[in-house]
Amino acid sequence: MNSLDHTHDPAAQSWVASANAADIDFPLQNLPYARARRAGTQQDWRIVVAIGDQALDLAKAASAGRWSSAIQVLLEPLARGDLNALMAQPAAARRALRQALFEALREGSPQQARLQGALIAQAELEFSLPARIGDYTDFYAGIHHAVTVGKLFRPDNPLLPNYKWVPIGYHGRASSIVVSGTPLRRPWGQRKGPNDEVPQFAPSQRLDHELELGLWVAQGNALGEPIPIERAEEHLFGLSLFNDWSARDIQPWEYQPLGPFLAKNFGSTVSPWIVCWEALAPFRCPLERAADDPRPLPYLQHTANEVAGGVDLQLEVWIHTAAQRAAGRGPTRLACSNMRHMYWTAAQLLTHHASNGCNLQPGDLLGTGTLSGPLPEQAGSLLELSQGGRQAVDLGEGESRTFLQDGDELSLRAYAERPGARRIGLGACSGLILPALAR
Ligand code: MN
Repeated sequence: MNSLDHTHDPAAQSWVASANAADIDFPLQNLPYARARRAGTQQDWRIVVAIGDQALDLAKAASAGRWSSAIQVLLEPLARGDLNALMAQPAAARRALRQALFEALREGSPQQARLQGALIAQAELEFSLPARIGDYTDFYAGIHHAVTVGKLFRPDNPLLPNYKWVPIGYHGRASSIVVSGTPLRRPWGQRKGPNDEVPQFAPSQRLDHELELGLWVAQGNALGEPIPIERAEEHLFGLSLFNDWSARDIQPWEYQPLGPFLAKNFGSTVSPWIVCWEALAPFRCPLERAADDPRPLPYLQHTANEVAGGVDLQLEVWIHTAAQRAAGRGPTRLACSNMRHMYWTAAQLLTHHASNGCNLQPGDLLGTGTLSGPLPEQAGSLLELSQGGRQAVDLGEGESRTFLQDGDELSLRAYAERPGARRIGLGACSGLILPALAR
């Protein structure tokens, strides 16, 4: 899963000209999948592959292109908009499709004339969720987030004693996960401040974002059968950006003793494109651990995972306020971070999840947890950036934020770049905050 092949060759170019620009997210070496159709139509949904600023419509490509019979079988459900069927395939089949698409879109491909008509500009598409999400689990693998948030509540003892032994997570809700571009309604909820005698039910005043990545499960495991760490990456389909919106005033009142509930499940936004795990091979990096940290228990330990279980993926959070849009000003960058700061790798999260025999299924989504970096300006939430709401974040031009306001548009972005590799990106994950409903 981790190995480089000709599809990572940084010199390879596409016959789709826009894919050869230096700073784009979707060159020939990336080839992420989304589920889309021409905007404003009742077209059936189909799976598309990003190439430059275009998308290859696999419904059209399946019939217009020339493919081997094995690839034709893989394309058939994709033409019907079913990405879960590809997720359920073994890693070797998924890799074979990546290679076939790479060859078809490569400069000089004999497929060019046949596939030209299967391209559509991404700007003309509307997206659905990329796959049917059976179950959603949110982890807490960003240790810098865990420490900073822990300090707000327990200055002397920020990190709970289990953190460096067991990947912390909770079962979330799949029904309220929406695709990027879907507006988010400010939630109502029950909260009780330190000076309140009784709780009140009101619109959240501490609405926040969480910079996360979504890990999509590929082939699952049978109930009762764990996934060994050395096989875990074969069960990972790919990555999307994931904003786990959070109501910070609802959370502290409701979360004990059973964990997060309505402060989390009013909406979570996922980016439309899934960058396949194979595309990230040139950007793998070691697991970051302090020398005096405990060694993971044997079921979470594997040499390849320690050496290259991480991903060097740059992460960014942007805010575009209503006032900025009205004045024709651009967005403000709130933070930069990196996926390499995860305390547990993607493989460890997956292996831990299945370690008790819990059955994962193709299309399940695992949130990583908020991926803050070690520095204050690398924080992946406003809770951290504003130090619990005590210090407003300056946005320039007289604007500032402690938490999100109605009309704010929050966007996550991610990209990987390294010498000797072609830069790839994940696209954007955006959501606009709508005012709470009147009640
Ligand atoms: Mn979260």
